[in-house]
Amino acid sequence: MKWTQVEVPTAARTQFLDITGAVASEVAKSGVKTGICYVYMPHTTAGLTINENADPDVARDILAALARLVPLAGDYRHAEGNSDAHVKASLVGFTLTVPVIDGRLALGTWQGIYFCEFDGPRHRHVLVGVIGQ
Ligand code: ZN
Repeated sequence: MKWTQVEVPTAARTQFLDITGAVASEVAKSGVKTGICYVYMPHTTAGLTINENADPDVARDILAALARLVPLAGDYRHAEGNSDAHVKASLVGFTLTVPVIDGRLALGTWQGIYFCEFDGPRHRHVLVGVIGQ
């Protein structure tokens, strides 16, 4: 299995970026018809999730809920001052596994793959690997 790196420049401190198209493009390039697509986040203050990409208010509401749950200022010791970002990244997680069927990501109708930036803006990347036949 070959891993490819997808570049993701982010534009705000916190942001959900829909990277479905970029991941789907790697699936198409792999030539795999039936298998699994892995997406891996090699950063500690950004995460990955799958959720609705039809109404942009859903991503906005998730970001707002995470901000209420994990405030910027709090009882943190990490000297870098971005502990909220580390906690949020761990809450959403660093890996995704998506079925590949008929050569395409088998996402639900309303689902999209989101890069979750919690300490931007930064130049980020994710790793995409597709395994199967
Ligand atoms: Zn830090």
